[in-house]
Amino acid sequence: MAHILEVKNLSKRYAKSGFALKNVSFNVPYGSIVGFIGENGAGKTTAISCILNVLFKDSGTIKILGSEMTDGDSALREELGAVFDAGSFPDQLDARKLSSIMQGIYTKWDQNLFTDYLNQFQIPADKKISAFSRGMLMKLSIAAALSHRPKLLILDEATSGLDPIVRDEILDVFLDFVQDEEHSILLSSHITSDLEKIADYIVFIHNGEIILTAPKDELIYDYAVARCKTSQFSQIEKSDIITYRKRDYQTDVLVKNRKEIERKYKNLTLDTVSIDDIMLLLIKGERI
Ligand code: ATP
Repeated sequence: MAHILEVKNLSKRYAKSGFALKNVSFNVPYGSIVGFIGENGAGKTTAISCILNVLFKDSGTIKILGSEMTDGDSALREELGAVFDAGSFPDQLDARKLSSIMQGIYTKWDQNLFTDYLNQFQIPADKKISAFSRGMLMKLSIAAALSHRPKLLILDEATSGLDPIVRDEILDVFLDFVQDEEHSILLSSHITSDLEKIADYIVFIHNGEIILTAPKDELIYDYAVARCKTSQFSQIEKSDIITYRKRDYQTDVLVKNRKEIERKYKNLTLDTVSIDDIMLLLIKGERI
């Protein structure tokens, strides 16, 4: 089994809004970090909620550690650590009380590990959660999600709204977590620079559909944008164009196999792309 998480043909439609996930398929390999990105309303939280079994799917299969999760499946739930955008702990608790509650919920809850994370994140054990800043809440949520020793960590926008120093600390904790080859992370984020730092794979979702899945290094090193004048654009073979976007004086063309394109079209200027550039061109660009 090569994947800790396998999502196959996941579909889910909200009757109220009409939004639908359509045959969403992607995998999270063991020992990897997968970045899940897409514009606001693309369907990331919906897909993650189905994976965590807090939202009923209409169809498709979701396998975690090779098994589909059922409602009463506490063993599989123990292998999952989840962090959502908004901290969801009762305000009146402090971290110490939270730890004793968690101990009653998770058989593998590790109080010493939790204390280590609190120390690392400089979170006071005896301060009420109601007095926590957003950064402290997020760090507490991550510490709690990791302290029952899950194998798969799933985070929805966990680093948004945090300053770069706190984010950097958290990214280090994530990298450390996947040092164990049995551990993996699925992480949705709008902060693509964070994903450029730590992700092994990127899954792009748009309007409820997966539009691209690729290793991050392939996106950064193999994809490129050709900045073309009209005459240059007309020379590019259709099969070499992933998407294109016409601007005032030039057309930006998203291409793959950068080296090959460079050899084939000697007069083209190719720029390296960020994950944001790729997302923009995939979503806003036209296809031939
Ligand atoms: P963001 O990046 O803004 O968090 P997202 O990619 O996580 O967005 P979702 O939260 O999954 O997107 O929402 C996808 C679509 O489903 C949106 O159009 C949203 O309005 C709609 N939606 C979400 N929850 C419900 C619901 N409970 N009932 C009906 N529609 C919903």
